[in-house]
Amino acid sequence: MNSLNDSTYNPWQAAMEVFDHAADVLDLQEGIRNRIKYAERELTVNFPVKMRNGRIKMFTGHRVQHNTARGPAKGGIRYHPGVTLDEVRALASWMTWKCAVVGIPFGGGKGGVQCNPKEMNMDELEHMTRRFASELVGFIGPDRDIPAPDVYTTPQTMAWIMDTYSMHKGHSVPGVVTGKPLLIGGSKGRNEATGRGCVYTIFEAAKHLNFKLNGATAAIQGFGNAGSVAAKLLAAEHGMKIIAVNDSTGGAYNKNGLDVPALLAYKEKTGKVKGFSGSEDIGNDDLLALKCEVLVPAALENAITDKIAPKINARVIAEAANGPTTPEADKILHEKNVFMLPDILANAGGVTVSYFEWVQDNYSFFWKEKDVNDNLRDVMVNSFTEVLQTAQQRKIDMRRAAYVLAVDRVAEAIRVRGIYP
Ligand code: NAD
Repeated sequence: MNSLNDSTYNPWQAAMEVFDHAADVLDLQEGIRNRIKYAERELTVNFPVKMRNGRIKMFTGHRVQHNTARGPAKGGIRYHPGVTLDEVRALASWMTWKCAVVGIPFGGGKGGVQCNPKEMNMDELEHMTRRFASELVGFIGPDRDIPAPDVYTTPQTMAWIMDTYSMHKGHSVPGVVTGKPLLIGGSKGRNEATGRGCVYTIFEAAKHLNFKLNGATAAIQGFGNAGSVAAKLLAAEHGMKIIAVNDSTGGAYNKNGLDVPALLAYKEKTGKVKGFSGSEDIGNDDLLALKCEVLVPAALENAITDKIAPKINARVIAEAANGPTTPEADKILHEKNVFMLPDILANAGGVTVSYFEWVQDNYSFFWKEKDVNDNLRDVMVNSFTEVLQTAQQRKIDMRRAAYVLAVDRVAEAIRVRGIYP
């Protein structure tokens, strides 16, 4: 299982639990409930790749289109040894709610290949990506289902998918994926969008809770795309002290705050954060339990369990990762009065700028970075406000409020479209 803790955790069950609660609050009729609950289409492919030692290796990949009532399916592709169909199902459904909560005209999809990218060289990764992409040619498309990067996939991966799809179609189709390199139709600001969007919601939460980010402390689990950008912007644009970060190989802690630009350079050079000068090692559980204003889980699912939740000492949790908090842990955190910025809101910046990228590709007209970031801020601030208002009106927590808002929008789209034939 692609998660941080025990192997019995099933993200699909966790996703369904939160969905069911929102469906109960909305008193959704059974037919509509089931129409929304289960994925529309699921594809599993087993495919061969010739490896550098000349041997043929089989890989299993999945692509799930959870719901397309509000627009084409949208969501990343993940490369990880723990990828399972249930995980991809959960991630696809979270994309449906995420697009609905920020009001962009997409449904939810997700994909993954069970593999260990750390043990593969660039040629092997390219061959695996191109073969997987060619298996997906009839399934994805700029009006059907638009992949993007996720864990251990990059703009380069998207370029290979775009090129493979285009070769099959006989002409360039930049809008088939987002998160591409700028040279071939990517958007300015996309690389930073998830971390930046997350920071916009943290800023709104601090305003709501009446504390200043300047001088306040943050701890960040996961120092990849989402986590490192969040760390950089919280420090550079808001004067926050980033007291701890970690990645899959260890952590770095300094109670006075880490020098984030130097840490980024160290990670770039060494591939890790552990051993960064002026920092002490810190274990994963200790990082999560640090006393700080803001905790940002930015690694994988199942990071905050019912075992760790009672020890959490943060005022705000901003879920840059998808599904980092188990349902049991979520209840404990709610009782502890931790203000939760749920994943489908906090990390929606990535898909929002993916939407901007898709719009720019369709128009072949590209925006300035400032316009991308300003539009992103508008979307994130409006969405935060709508979720907060829903929470206050219905007297429910922020996660449930985000789901109620999202599920209601998808249910309304289904009602107004009607059931075919
Ligand atoms: P990434 O591959 O760039 O980074 C993942 C980071 O998590 C790496 O630093 C890795 O070392 C770390 N990690 C892995 N296992 C860990 C462990 N056991 N303990 C501590 N750290 C660990 O991936 P990313 O794109 O930053 O994605 C991170 C999370 O954010 C995922 O849940 C992803 O679904 C979510 N997300 C990403 C985007 C995006 O645009 N990149 C958008 C929305 C959500």
